[in-house]
Amino acid sequence: MNRITLEGKLLFATVIVAFLTLILTASALIPTYESYRSTNDNLLAVERFRQVLEAASRMSAERGPANDIMAIEPNSSPPATERLKVFRRISDLSLEALDEPPQVDLSSSLPDLQAALAETRAQLRRARQAVDRVAATPLADRDPDDVQNAIGEMIQVIETFQHVVDWHIAAFTTRRSELTAPFLTGRMISDMREYGGRAASQIMGPIATRQPLRDSHITDASRTIGRLLELRALMQGQTIVSDHDALSAQLMKDVDTIFFGSGLELVKILIEQGKISGDYSVSAVDLTRDYVPTLQPLERLRTVFLDDVVKRYRSQHYAASYRLAVIAVITASALAVLFTLFRSIRLHMLGPLLTARRQIIEFADGSPVTDLETISKAPEMRSLFEALELLRGKLDERAEYEARLKMQAEKDGLTGVWNRRALEGFGNAPSEREEDVCLMLIDIDHFKTVNDTYGHLTGDAVLIEIATLLQGAMRPTDIVARYGGEEFAVLVSTADLSNTLDFAEELRSRIQAHVIRDTETGVALSITVSIGVASGAEGWRQLIASADEALYCAKKKGRNRTCVFGDEADRDIVESALIPFRARRSASF
Ligand code: GH3
Ligand code: MG
Ligand code: MG
Repeated sequence: MNRITLEGKLLFATVIVAFLTLILTASALIPTYESYRSTNDNLLAVERFRQVLEAASRMSAERGPANDIMAIEPNSSPPATERLKVFRRISDLSLEALDEPPQVDLSSSLPDLQAALAETRAQLRRARQAVDRVAATPLADRDPDDVQNAIGEMIQVIETFQHVVDWHIAAFTTRRSELTAPFLTGRMISDMREYGGRAASQIMGPIATRQPLRDSHITDASRTIGRLLELRALMQGQTIVSDHDALSAQLMKDVDTIFFGSGLELVKILIEQGKISGDYSVSAVDLTRDYVPTLQPLERLRTVFLDDVVKRYRSQHYAASYRLAVIAVITASALAVLFTLFRSIRLHMLGPLLTARRQIIEFADGSPVTDLETISKAPEMRSLFEALELLRGKLDERAEYEARLKMQAEKDGLTGVWNRRALEGFGNAPSEREEDVCLMLIDIDHFKTVNDTYGHLTGDAVLIEIATLLQGAMRPTDIVARYGGEEFAVLVSTADLSNTLDFAEELRSRIQAHVIRDTETGVALSITVSIGVASGAEGWRQLIASADEALYCAKKKGRNRTCVFGDEADRDIVESALIPFRARRSASF
């Protein structure tokens, strides 16, 4: 794991979190989607069922104008003929709407539905032909049996259509048990409307022809009335409008008072009259006019119930759609936030971290820091770079301090030229240089007298002046150092002793010619130096010793002069005083 980069870990974590988010949302999304689909199917099913009951109602309603036309002389009332035409057209359209198969997955077979629809159409055609035949016969020649037969054929249309209704109930409720209750209640209400119409139709023929009722009429009508009362009893306690008990109660109350109370009572009175004679208290046309309005509460009950069912399933479907949309939006937002976070961390943290790494490496080389603004806008990253800036400042300070320490360790505090330790460092440098160097030891003559006469401060000033003069005369490769109290050393990068001797002489002359004044009195001091010169041969120690001997020689010969080590002319001087001189030098250092 330690070998994986931070970016790799971040990517890994993002993928895991995204995966978990997807699993989490899928566990919420799948049932919600299921509910969305099933509420959608339920909505389509109840809408379809409403269409089916609507078609039944339209075909029932067609009986009203059909009865009318069979109760009048042929072509005596163009409005009645026109009205029947309109009702028939509406029936046809409502049947046509059912030719389109339902949009829901079904457990029943479609050919069965198509067969039931074809059967209904055939029966409707037969019934209409029977009605038209009766209506074309003059009133005086009209046989009540033909009228009743035509009405029976119209009623048979609804009976045939029951297969279509049953097919839908079976098709929709087998897989969706929750639809059973509303479908059966819908069917009951629809049947009640049908039987309501049928009760009057079944005695319409004898009334239209002013004939007494035959047993078959009485049996059929009584059976229909019995069915109506039965349905009414079954309707007791059924939910008509969900969450609206007052409206449900009002609808049922209207059904009871208007239909059962007055409409059905009228039919019952006419049955009683028909049992005795053909002398009915109302004509067929009056019966239609008085009776049809009493069916209105049944019609309204049906419409309100079906509208409510559709509304209920529609709102369930909307709620499921809303839940689905919310979950989808939340998932999309969560993923968007996650990826934005990932991108932002990558852009504003990992990128700058790599830049920071590069910057730290660049610090080591002393390169300047890149403009902070261009690196990152994230406050954390900015503070990191500010810390780097601080570190850089501290590093610079430290480097300066070390440089100062080095200087203090290697430079002479009074004169600013190299000190003896630094000189020995140069002198002990790689051996290849040794043969290429010459060394001068320069000692100020009678310096003690300067000190004694003018004081130490003036002595110090003299030392500084001599050092400055020497430093100014050097070539870049030459090194000036303060070797002892009033002694300087010059290390020259050349093996040419003769040249070095010339150079030493030049230095000596310059010092002699240089006027140094006492700082207090302004008196001109006459300063001279003695110089010993030697060339590198057998190591640093030997070089020092040689130059020292030469210097000693120069002192001995009277000062303010230059001697070269190994000069035959000076040998005596050197030999005679070597032992006491060495003893003296080792005592002074
Ligand atoms: P000689 O010609 O033989 O070299 O005589 P000298 O007087 O120069 O030599 P000596 O060795 O007797 O004296 C050196 C003097 O240098 C002694 C000491 O007080 C003085 N001296 C050493 N270091 C300093 C210094 O830093 N400042 C001052 N003002 N005097 C110093
Ligand atoms: Mg000295
Ligand atoms: Mg001296």
